Amino acid sequence: MSAARQRAQWLRETLARWSYQYHTLDEPSVPDAQYDQAYRELQALEAEHPDLITPDSPTQRVGEKPVEFLKQVPHATPMLSLGNGFEDQDIEQFDARVRDWLLKAGVLNAAQAADPLVVLYCAELKYDGLAVTLRYENGLLVQAATRGDGSTGEDVTHNVRTIEVVPLRLLPGERPHPEVLEVRGEVLMFNADFERLNQQQAERGDKLFVNPRNAAAGSLRQLDPALTARRPLRFFAYGANTKLGHGQFAMLDDLRGWGLPVSPRRALVQGAAGLLDFYRQIQVERKRLPFEIDGVVYKVNNEAWQDALGFVARAPRFAIAHKFPPQEVMTRLLDIEIQVGRTGALTPVARLDPVFVGGTTVSNATLHNEDEIRRKDVHVGDMVVVRRAGDVIPEVVRAVAEFRPAQVTSFVMPTACPVCGSEVVREANEAVARCTGGFVCMAQRKQGLLHFAQRRAVMIDGLGEKLVDQLIEANLVKAPADFFTLSVEALLRLERMGQKSAENLLAAIQAARSTTLARLVFGLGIRHVGEETARQLALAFGSMKALREQDYTVLAQAKEAGQTQGLEGIGPEILASLQSYFSDPRQCKLIDDLREVGVTWPEHEARWKLETLTQENADVDDLVQTGMAIPPLQGLSFVITGTLPELSRDQAADLIRAHGGQVSSAVSKKTAYLLAGEAAGSKLAKAQELGVKVIDEAALREMLAQGKPD
Ligand code: NAD
Repeated sequence: MSAARQRAQWLRETLARWSYQYHTLDEPSVPDAQYDQAYRELQALEAEHPDLITPDSPTQRVGEKPVEFLKQVPHATPMLSLGNGFEDQDIEQFDARVRDWLLKAGVLNAAQAADPLVVLYCAELKYDGLAVTLRYENGLLVQAATRGDGSTGEDVTHNVRTIEVVPLRLLPGERPHPEVLEVRGEVLMFNADFERLNQQQAERGDKLFVNPRNAAAGSLRQLDPALTARRPLRFFAYGANTKLGHGQFAMLDDLRGWGLPVSPRRALVQGAAGLLDFYRQIQVERKRLPFEIDGVVYKVNNEAWQDALGFVARAPRFAIAHKFPPQEVMTRLLDIEIQVGRTGALTPVARLDPVFVGGTTVSNATLHNEDEIRRKDVHVGDMVVVRRAGDVIPEVVRAVAEFRPAQVTSFVMPTACPVCGSEVVREANEAVARCTGGFVCMAQRKQGLLHFAQRRAVMIDGLGEKLVDQLIEANLVKAPADFFTLSVEALLRLERMGQKSAENLLAAIQAARSTTLARLVFGLGIRHVGEETARQLALAFGSMKALREQDYTVLAQAKEAGQTQGLEGIGPEILASLQSYFSDPRQCKLIDDLREVGVTWPEHEARWKLETLTQENADVDDLVQTGMAIPPLQGLSFVITGTLPELSRDQAADLIRAHGGQVSSAVSKKTAYLLAGEAAGSKLAKAQELGVKVIDEAALREMLAQGKPD
């Protein structure tokens, strides 16, 4: 057997298997691009060696035999496929061929056939769904069938009746509909409906659909119409086998008038130039469409000309599908690497044998997380389907079991961060694994430093992203304490840093040196510890020492047993996170370093007697909550106005909050004190009107020194 014959046979067998999986089982094993590539190879082989063509070749037939569990329906007029092209050139050749045939058929004379704009085309969307034919007799839907193998389809009348947008009775329309009308169109599922359906399938532990097309096909080809009715199917009509005589474009208007859904996105265009224009417009609009299309379809508009052009083996000569470059292709997964994000999230990234998909060459794609890798059954060494749709980040969709080599390696999430070696944790209910390194981890450093220096944390005014980048790059700042050792000379070495800016930055750093425990705790960027939680912790524990010495596992047990008070907002997740943070000596050193460089914050006695909680092997039952040193301003609401002699308003607010008080912006009956400075205005008047006590900065300090409100 010659090599060509052998290859042709292999291609026929492979294509037949893929076609069966796709058309009959609605479970494609390979992406369409793979199928199309093999199909084109077979077509080329057969063109070169016509003796290799067999009647059962996929190039000679349409679709697959109808399945036996559904009743079979012979089609009055065959339901064919479409020829297709990818390149502009394919479309220019198509138009030239059409004119040539029309010339040969005597429809056009030589001068007309030479005119590149002579043919008028109806340009439409190519819906990526499943072809059906609907038979209306005297305006009533009597039968619906799938395409099947083109001459015999499957009876899906009972199921199509459940599709809401399909009229059971035609509307009168502008012109009367023929007595018998066979409408051709596509059943499909909108993308959002598909996502929802797959989510429900996942929740029920049912099989997931590969894409909207297969979900639509699987939903329609069911024995039980009740099941189809539960699936969100749609329909678009694109033709009728009853010629209505005034062209394809006007025929679609008629169908619309009779109540059939027809996409408004179509155009009457002239020649190949008009076709290519339409193609480019739709390429742009594609990502905004709520459903999938895999290209556009061009049809000679004149029905008499269509008849003159006729058919080849499996497709009309008067139409062609202009397909978009594939959004899903197959390639080898060479490796899975871990990327550590700015927040410490570990993302597995697929290193791929470079492949052209969705218009660019892709060599990396996201794998999201560990569970996704398991769900998609992806191993290093596998052939995988890679998807890139629009501007979305490329992703690995699934492995192709058929091409799995004998040796593949399963993925295991590392237990240590590949960047800094810190412990990696994955909390219950979380899909993402994270590095616990914080500032220690190079990948998280920048984000961490920005977080530390932000307004609501330790507040270094004027420290932006660019500057942090520069400081890290120049190796001047690795951890928060390093900010406080910067000098004007060091800063001046940075690019575009002038004397004045350097001095301003140092002044801002100087101002940040005295902060509050709450701001500091927030600024450390401990996972799950937001601004409010940091305030609560500062209040409950009073000092950094207390926070550091706490055994949070014991505390979590005590809390669980209902033996704690004043920690209402501090849940088990936060406690676990605190435990992991403060038991890491590298994190503790960051705090020691801050103190060392002269950062200060006021502390008060803990509301907790911590000794009992930190004793080794402390029994939860022995935990006694004693000595609740209630912060002096607990439960009191303050409003601040005017210019205070020493404190800024932010500092005063911090001071009040650090001692248990609240700060709000408007004076009301609930306000306990108005802290007023110089040039106080309307708030002072309002306080006097409502009889709210007015105090100055000295009185506030006095209250704190006394340990109780006035
Ligand atoms: P096709 O789907 O590319 O084109 C013909 C079909 O286009 C028609 O049957 C009709 O349903 C549809 N269509 C959508 N909009 C239309 C419009 N406006 N006017 C007219 N028709 C419109 O060709 P095909 O022969 O049905 O199937 C081949 C396709 O199926 C290829 O895309 C191929 O990749 C895919 N396939 C994939 C696999 C796989 O394993 N992944 C296997 C077999 C086939």
